[in-house]
Amino acid sequence: MERTQKLRVLFITPEIYPACKTGGLGDVSAALPMALQHLQTDIKILLPGYPSVLQGVKYKKAVHEFNDLQHFPPATLLSGKLALSKTESLPVFVIDCPGLYVREGGPYLDAQGRDWPDNSLRFGLLSKIGAILSSDASPLKWRPDIAHCNDWQSGLTPAYLHFHPGQKAATVMTIHNLAFQGVFAPGTVIQLGLPPSSFNIEGVEYYGNVSFLKAGVYYAEHITTVSPNYVQEIQSETLGFGMQGLLTTRNDKLTGIVNGIDTDKWNPETDTYLAKNYSREKLSGKIVNKKALQQYMGLDIDDDIPLLGVISRLSYQKGTDLLIQIAPELVKLPAQLVILGSNHIELEQQLILLAKMYPHAIAVQTGFDEALSHLIEAGADCFLMPSRFEPCGLNQMYSQHYGTLPIVHATGGLLDTVVNYTPSSLTKGTASGFLFHPITVGSLLKAIQFAIDTYQNKKTWRKLQRNAMSKDFSWQASAIAYQEIYRSLIHST
Ligand code: ADP
Repeated sequence: MERTQKLRVLFITPEIYPACKTGGLGDVSAALPMALQHLQTDIKILLPGYPSVLQGVKYKKAVHEFNDLQHFPPATLLSGKLALSKTESLPVFVIDCPGLYVREGGPYLDAQGRDWPDNSLRFGLLSKIGAILSSDASPLKWRPDIAHCNDWQSGLTPAYLHFHPGQKAATVMTIHNLAFQGVFAPGTVIQLGLPPSSFNIEGVEYYGNVSFLKAGVYYAEHITTVSPNYVQEIQSETLGFGMQGLLTTRNDKLTGIVNGIDTDKWNPETDTYLAKNYSREKLSGKIVNKKALQQYMGLDIDDDIPLLGVISRLSYQKGTDLLIQIAPELVKLPAQLVILGSNHIELEQQLILLAKMYPHAIAVQTGFDEALSHLIEAGADCFLMPSRFEPCGLNQMYSQHYGTLPIVHATGGLLDTVVNYTPSSLTKGTASGFLFHPITVGSLLKAIQFAIDTYQNKKTWRKLQRNAMSKDFSWQASAIAYQEIYRSLIHST
């Protein structure tokens, strides 16, 4: 029988822009549900009540007191709305549990960059309440058909639901980054009220410990990850991070859906963070942003020198060490480099030192700065992503949308979303950036040199920019693909 009711989805996530964002997951958790809402999905978000979330979510009202949850401190479930723009908002549930979530520091790390010691309890509670709301144990009238879990922080929801004897939603586990697995001591099973029998290779056990992500991957009805190429990579020894065996055995339930970008928020024609708006047809405004960026970052103001941008969670994954190694060579090309990065105190210090050594050519800003990230996307000529692995990556898509050609390692979603410039891809009108492989200082420098040589040819450069800006990175197609998975799960239960 054809279903006439809207699909109901509980989207369980540890971050959502603008209330809380440490990386791509924050952007995806806002834009994907919004795109699904446009497709008539009845979707609600479940979030931990960090201070920024409590402040950002409006019209909050308490809908349930979880006073007697075994293993967890009392928590209040709030229901409210999170505005994503002047005209759009998403319905959200917030878990208000000040002892676990109201503290200074980030959502996962303290101010010194160490994991919060009670992360298993903090995200165990998120997973647990996600499971309760997705089953007939829910105190609410609204019950989802699908519990959509995101990353390890919600990975125990499918496990709790598996052991729930009553009616329950089908589960989807999305891996945004397999490197973060939520691994805790074996005693976590008892502490979080999972059956002792689940501490098993056929369960939540992961090489002698408990992994929240492994639990999600093991128990969820369907697994997705954020690009088709990453689906293949995570089943290999090199990028499977120990989970390749399980992922391979579940590969008939594993789908790669490339992320989109929020083209309302990231639109060079309307972006309010820019010095001047511009479009594919009227690219001349881009240069105003280059000057504004050079000026803001204290670099030499020069139209002709190629300006390379980086916005990144500083880490080994993102190849920050490679950027540091090539910097002296870059300056000689000549080229300028602007880096906005955070999340790694030691790497931040090394970058600051580089900027001191080359004050006219290298500028660094540490910390998280949404406004500057938009200006970099608009003002740079090229965007560098020497990621060792990259499940999907968003900045290479923002860059193309802004006519800022990406120079990226041929890995993960970067390979799925950037078309390497060759004479033939240029003729076909598909070339939109520069891919390099292997991930070495030599091949990165070679790609940058090639991009800079190409930059001298203004006609080719314009063509590449226009190709890049013509690509459709909107969420529409991806949201439809998620909806198809949801539907297939409902029909198979
Ligand atoms: P990640 O692996 O960190 O999730 P993505 O490319 O998927 O990488 O997404 C990163 C997101 O975070 C992008 O929207 C990027 O612009 C943003 N971002 C990363 N670091 C910063 C920063 N220091 N300031 C502002 N935005 C940042």
